[in-house]
Amino acid sequence: MPARVIDGKAVAAEVRARVARGVEEFVTAHDGAVPGLATVLVGDDPASHVYVGNKRKSTEEVGMRSVHHGLDATISQEDLLALVAALNADDGVDGILVQLPLPEQITQDAVISAIDPAKDVDGLTAGSAGRLAQGRPGLVSCTPQGVMELLAHAGVEPEGADAVVIGRSILVGRPLLSLLLNANATVTVCHSRTRDLAEVCRRADILVAAVGSPRLVRADWVKRGATVIDVGMNRTESGLAGDVDFEAVSEVAGAITPVPGGVGPMTIAMLLQNTLRAAIARRA
Ligand code: NAP
Repeated sequence: MPARVIDGKAVAAEVRARVARGVEEFVTAHDGAVPGLATVLVGDDPASHVYVGNKRKSTEEVGMRSVHHGLDATISQEDLLALVAALNADDGVDGILVQLPLPEQITQDAVISAIDPAKDVDGLTAGSAGRLAQGRPGLVSCTPQGVMELLAHAGVEPEGADAVVIGRSILVGRPLLSLLLNANATVTVCHSRTRDLAEVCRRADILVAAVGSPRLVRADWVKRGATVIDVGMNRTESGLAGDVDFEAVSEVAGAITPVPGGVGPMTIAMLLQNTLRAAIARRA
């Protein structure tokens, strides 16, 4: 029987509707104050423009305030850090999102580290990552959080499950390790030096691919009935492709996310949720 397809678009729409209701309650409870998300975009990268544009539009759609700063690609690190400091100090800003990548003259880590942890809605500061690794509450990176939300919606219980994550990036693989571990899964993280990747993947009840290699995960890497979550977004000649060979793996897996329409729509939904959470926590 082909795998059940986990509909990320539908789950993301539910999350956005939930956030919109939460924003209404927030506004009522705080005398009309509206949660605000500041986006910072440096340079002219067309893909980054599209991503930030979508984030701003979605922010306004759920009733929050979007404050945008579009900066010239030649901006100095000093000036960018001064902007982050001003946004940290701005009481009307609850979340700060600096779109990556940044131009060469700027040290990415320095800018991310400068963000107030209370406004770190991308969950990328060392403080947020550390709290997550220690199983303490805090703001969690959006895409991995979206993966956990999809598992919950699909009724997949991580507790006691063998989970395998392919990829160890700060953005996806590492926070997912912590999230799955905190949810009591037994987690293995694979990367480019992993010996016999296929054999490790075959052990997984939950298999998450976050690699950036089109259709890397094949049907014979997947245990029958496993849940397969495909984070990959690869632009190929035949269009957008995930890290999983969707057609073939669907014949083996129990549940699977498509690309597009799986993890992708969840990322912005979780960003909105993080911004509302940050706004609530800052006023608690
Ligand atoms: P990344 O920083 O490039 O990390 C890729 C990881 O995959 C690395 O840990 C790398 O290992 C590992 N890897 C590369 N080739 C491998 C191979 N042949 N076998 C096993 N492991 C291998 O990428 P990322 O930022 O985590 O993103 C991963 C994918 O997710 C990309 O396609 C990206 O576009 C997509 N993504 C999607 C969303 C979304 O909203 N849907 C959000 C973020 C990312 P090493 O550490 O050893 O180099």
